Amino acid sequence: MSQAEVLVIGAGISGLSTAWWLAQQGIPVEVWEKAPWLGGKIRTNNHSGYITEQAASLLVNFRPEIDRCIAAAGLTASKQSRGRDLSRYVVHQGRLAEMPMQLGRLALSPLWSRQTKLRLLTEVLMPRSRQPRESVSQFIGRRWGSEVLESAIEPFIAGTLASDPDHADARSLLPRLTGLEQRYGSIAAGIFINRIIKRRRVNTSEAFSFNQGMGELINTLSRHPLIKLKTHCTLDEMHFQNGGWHAQANCGTHNRHIRHLVISTPASHAADLLFPVTPTLSSLVGDIQYAPLSVLHLGFDRAQIRHPLNGSGFLTARRERLSFNGNLWMSSLFSARAPSGKVLLTSYIGGARHPERFGWHDDQLISSVTSDLKRLIGLRGSPEFIHVDRHSQALPLYYGDYQRRLAAITEQLGQWPGLHLVANYRGGVSVRERIYQGMRAAQLISQSTESRTAAACNSDDRVATLTTAHV
Ligand SMILES: Cc1cc2nc3c(=O)[nH]c(=O)nc-3n(C[C@H](O)[C@H](O)[C@H](O)COP(=O)(O)OP(=O)(O)OC[C@H]3O[C@@H](n4cnc5c(N)ncnc54)[C@H](O)[C@@H]3O)c2cc1C
Repeated sequence: MSQAEVLVIGAGISGLSTAWWLAQQGIPVEVWEKAPWLGGKIRTNNHSGYITEQAASLLVNFRPEIDRCIAAAGLTASKQSRGRDLSRYVVHQGRLAEMPMQLGRLALSPLWSRQTKLRLLTEVLMPRSRQPRESVSQFIGRRWGSEVLESAIEPFIAGTLASDPDHADARSLLPRLTGLEQRYGSIAAGIFINRIIKRRRVNTSEAFSFNQGMGELINTLSRHPLIKLKTHCTLDEMHFQNGGWHAQANCGTHNRHIRHLVISTPASHAADLLFPVTPTLSSLVGDIQYAPLSVLHLGFDRAQIRHPLNGSGFLTARRERLSFNGNLWMSSLFSARAPSGKVLLTSYIGGARHPERFGWHDDQLISSVTSDLKRLIGLRGSPEFIHVDRHSQALPLYYGDYQRRLAAITEQLGQWPGLHLVANYRGGVSVRERIYQGMRAAQLISQSTESRTAAACNSDDRVATLTTAHV
């Protein structure tokens, strides 16, 4: 193939990784991106030594396919791993409490009552659910009880996914935990069987970024020679014609007729583009809700903070009534994210827990967050560095019967050959899942390209046979 047969719309990690996996298989790809830069939500900024991440700060991986991608892209030497001995904290009764990550520590943790600890240890005896669908709160409440839900799972769901466990679908947000219950009857039994008996790496994951931050991943993937990138290029219109897709952009005279069109934009943009083609698919995608988030980066002199900052940061439970959902200690996680003798702390405000706080102006954000930090980590004085990033549609919320919505989207897509929706509202929001889903989409496309080539070769063979027979 010389001219690209695949056009990807959107150069976020979903679109770029799909393009990269295709390019790795020798398939040329063109990518159109509306913004002047690549990476979508992901962007690393350097403000005189304070290195901030606009969205994803780290990649938490347990998938071998991601290791393969990192190695093949030549990023292994640039990986910066989060220190294994860093603690994880959660705010409990107005103070930071360490999250127990091992059984021995669980017994001593102040987070849960003796009853809850006993319940965690006897989870293996609980029957499997017969419910076809449960929210995260229902699933965790049933297996681990309300104390674990409120002090650990709700902070995790709000702090890392900007979501609300009362509305979020358990199978969509916690696929590994719900899968263990379905397969082995209990989460603990599943972990035990996988780890001890099958010796799989279940639950062991590695968290990392790169020397130049997450932007390095974007830059590296986008430099593949078979990927042709166009920024400032918005797909305006698309339609199905003569067995392929006609795409029209606003940037000059960009028209393409291609076999495979990959839409990797947020759901609302995809819904607008799809509406004239298929209103049914458009509404299935367009009805997906998003949560807004503000990201506040604050830089301080190390001496201004009493806490040892010996962790990755902390999450906050709803009942603690704090101004933010989570606080990452970026300069503890990765070295060189702040100038020498300084620290960089990043807070996430809003989400589904408090969408109204997305409207807070900078002064309100800074005063509320610093006042909470004073109580929690012994902060004194004012920040010497401040930067705010805002995302009106930060993360899709996998609410309601999300699995049924996904199945309906997949069924509708089956009616439109060559159309692919690869974005974080399908198959997971994390960078890990985006790269993995990009690989799956690329496999589908390359299989269909191979079968077309095989069909063409077969017909060539037939022509050759007929010609020989006539001679
Ligand atoms: C604050 C925050 C923190 C996060 N932290 C983490 C983390 O630590 N770890 C982790 O794994 N994940 C994290 N995530 C999640 C992860 O960053 C996102 O899910 C992921 O980056 C989304 O990628 P995407 O490509 O699906 O979408 P996007 O990044 O939104 O990309 C979509 C692209 O499509 C373009 N576009 C839209 N319409 C058009 C059009 N018509 N024509 C051309 N281009 C168009 C947009 O300009 C954009 O560039 C975080 C997210 C946020 C918001």
